Amino acid sequence: MQANETSGSTQHFGDSPEARPAERPLGRAIKRGLLNRCPACGSGRLFKSFVKPVENCAACGEDYTHQRADDLPPYLVITIVGHIVVGGYMGTDLVWPLTTWQHLAIWAPITVILSLLLLQPIKGGAIGLQWALKMHGFGDKPEETETETEAAPAYGDRTA
Ligand SMILES: [Zn+2]
Repeated sequence: MQANETSGSTQHFGDSPEARPAERPLGRAIKRGLLNRCPACGSGRLFKSFVKPVENCAACGEDYTHQRADDLPPYLVITIVGHIVVGGYMGTDLVWPLTTWQHLAIWAPITVILSLLLLQPIKGGAIGLQWALKMHGFGDKPEETETETEAAPAYGDRTA
């Protein structure tokens, strides 16, 4: 009796890390941004001050000069805080008969505090979104805006 030995063939999928584009899950990138972490690696800090992002991640070196969060974070903060404050005001007004000054003393500080608390995380989330969607030069390809940047002034550098 002869044992028929067949050597098991190993399958090679042939996917080197370079062959595949790096994955950028949207939810993970936004979550890391919300937590003031680099959307790419999740360990480096995203902000060097209140709403000023770092130029490069200290851990992985990802370039964050491409971010163009612009008006999106304040717009989202106004929408969220507006719903909380107006809803809270209308809800408490039904239950407790407070004067206008009492309402103002309650809701004005809550508006300011909530806005300040939310602005940085929401800007981080917006940067995470832009990074995950490869917007504004966050893509794998090198930026092809050399001629563009020469012609157009940088954002915030408008001298009319
Ligand atoms: Zn990083």
